[in-house]
Amino acid sequence: MPGASDVDVAGQLDSYLDRCSPGTRRTVSLMLTAFNLSSIAGRRARPFRSLSASSREAYVLACETSRIRQRRETLIALKALILMFFCSDGRIQPLIGYDGEPFKKVEDEPGLVELLVEEPDRGFYETADVVVVGSGAGGSVAARELAEAGLKVIVLEEGERFDRRDFTGSPPERLRRFYRGNGLTFTIGVPTISLPIGRGVGGSTLINSGTCFRTPDFVLDAWGLERDEMAPYFDDVEAILHVAPVGGDIMGANGDVMDAGRRALGYSGGPIRRNARGCHGSGVCAFGCPLDAKLGTHVTYLPLAVKAGARIISGCRVDELLVEHGRAVGVRGSCLDPETGAMQRDARFEIRARTVVLAAGAVYTPALLQRQRLANSSSQVGRNLRIHPGCGVLGVFDRDLYAWKGVMQSYYVDEKLHDGILLEATYPPPGVGYSAGGIGGKGTELKDMLARYRQTAAAGLIISDSGTGRVRTTPGGGLLITYDLHPADLRKTLEGIRLAAEVYLAAGAEEVHTLLPGMPAVRQREELPRITEGRWTAADLKLSAYHPMGTCRMGKDPLSSVVDVHGQSHDLPGLMIADASVLPGSTYVNPQITIMALAARNARHLAAQVS
Ligand SMILES: Cc1cc2nc3c(=O)[nH]c(=O)nc-3n(C[C@H](O)[C@H](O)[C@H](O)COP(=O)(O)OP(=O)(O)OC[C@H]3O[C@@H](n4cnc5c(N)ncnc54)[C@H](O)[C@@H]3O)c2cc1C
Ligand code: SF4
Repeated sequence: MPGASDVDVAGQLDSYLDRCSPGTRRTVSLMLTAFNLSSIAGRRARPFRSLSASSREAYVLACETSRIRQRRETLIALKALILMFFCSDGRIQPLIGYDGEPFKKVEDEPGLVELLVEEPDRGFYETADVVVVGSGAGGSVAARELAEAGLKVIVLEEGERFDRRDFTGSPPERLRRFYRGNGLTFTIGVPTISLPIGRGVGGSTLINSGTCFRTPDFVLDAWGLERDEMAPYFDDVEAILHVAPVGGDIMGANGDVMDAGRRALGYSGGPIRRNARGCHGSGVCAFGCPLDAKLGTHVTYLPLAVKAGARIISGCRVDELLVEHGRAVGVRGSCLDPETGAMQRDARFEIRARTVVLAAGAVYTPALLQRQRLANSSSQVGRNLRIHPGCGVLGVFDRDLYAWKGVMQSYYVDEKLHDGILLEATYPPPGVGYSAGGIGGKGTELKDMLARYRQTAAAGLIISDSGTGRVRTTPGGGLLITYDLHPADLRKTLEGIRLAAEVYLAAGAEEVHTLLPGMPAVRQREELPRITEGRWTAADLKLSAYHPMGTCRMGKDPLSSVVDVHGQSHDLPGLMIADASVLPGSTYVNPQITIMALAARNARHLAAQVS
């Protein structure tokens, strides 16, 4: 197999960074500089760049198991970036066995849904009954409910409008376009955790995996929500999203091996329920579905909202809430250039409304409030951040699986759900993803692993976190997301890795890669205790998380919650929050259905009040 220099990964990365935001360029350049200089402090006493080839290889290997966390983490992040370019290259893909072809030919492709979105190129002033900030899982559902109740609704979205015509190109190119910060968003703490967030009309539903779990009953009970009251909202959301279990025709080998292992062990689980129609199993859901078979809100709730009279305006970043006489009365913000995302000069907008619905997601909703010190008599705005940290586990089999063929996230094992551990068969395109950076080795050894990708199955963990993090704004308009893995969550993660390894071994895997530093592949059941009994620390884990929530939690008590049980601010009349921020705790499962059902319920409550 050719090497990174043969396909000019460095050149590809350079020209890619030229098209990324200045923030991304700074982050990557900082990582490269830090890694280059890190070897000066070591035995070699010279920058990485000036070492001989063999010394560089030795240094890379030493970094993988280095006790210095920053050194390890920088290597993982850079390796993930480099592997993504390497494995996405047209010359490498055939050698891995990846052809990007759909798993199944679909006869009836879903038709194109044209969504009417306004894209202003100058400032404007409007009035409405309700202005909704953010068009993702929560905002789109709230907009539809409120518009159907006869209210004049305007939805403001910072990102651009995208649909299946845009969901083409290589994974890095799609990360750059459809993800906030070009996909490079992280929490700060131990360990550093990748926290990707979507940005566009449809929010994170554009690029999520399409997994649809209802909130487990035990979670509803803990939150004090009535099961019977919530059931019709779940029914309605699932009907609009066409939620159904993944069929055998598009499951693919990645789900099949998890099914075999689960059955052999007698564990509970099954095909994942998803919001897709006419899916052909191309396995690229996290980069935008090329058919719009995955029913994000850009092809479901937002068109319904528009049909009911709502207006959607893209490229509009809300910078502040308007507050008069102690009441939210609208928002003000900036129109952004669709190409660069930069502020258009003098293009400011203002919308006056009877109610402001914040749905900018669990990171940006609290940030908006914090900047103005609003709605925070409880001091809980930005706190209680849960993210569902998780990591990848790879099972290598003695036969070709081509496990990327089929639905990207297809099968689950929920045997340990009550312990906060959920296992999901998840295979993004080969070499793509933060955990790919955790694959050990270099040179030939690493290439051997890539050559075995076709025999490899992959699973992801969702850990229901006991610990919490925090979103904070910094002077100068910056944002800090801090999160340290709680010791209980370290234990759950190790248990989860063990569960995944057990399932793969039961399915006949030859070896399981835990991605724990220095841990050899697991080949037999007897070796499983090494995972949970090893002296691993939080810093040893390569974690990513996709479910930020809880930063403006709802509750009855204004002393401990930001919004009431219907999402309305305890402090600021005229303000409702309708996104993942309001969740009072972990959902234990992927959260989009919970967010949507709550947004529908709370928006109906609001509509009844103001209509
Ligand atoms: C890669 C990935 C895979 C996932 N897979 C799944 C899955 O399979 N199943 C599942 O249940 N969940 C999944 N999730 C999580 C799920 O998509 C989110 O929990 C959900 O979309 C959050 O909804 P939200 O309304 O809080 O925010 P979002 O859907 O993120 O929407 C917020 C919107 O607000 C906009 N915005 C932010 N700030 C401003 C501002 N100042 N002005 C204007 N607009 C603003 C953003 O651009 C964004 O479009 C995944 C997430 C990711 C990133
Ligand atoms: S696997 Fe995902 S991306 Fe591919 S067609 Fe199905 S929903 Fe779309």
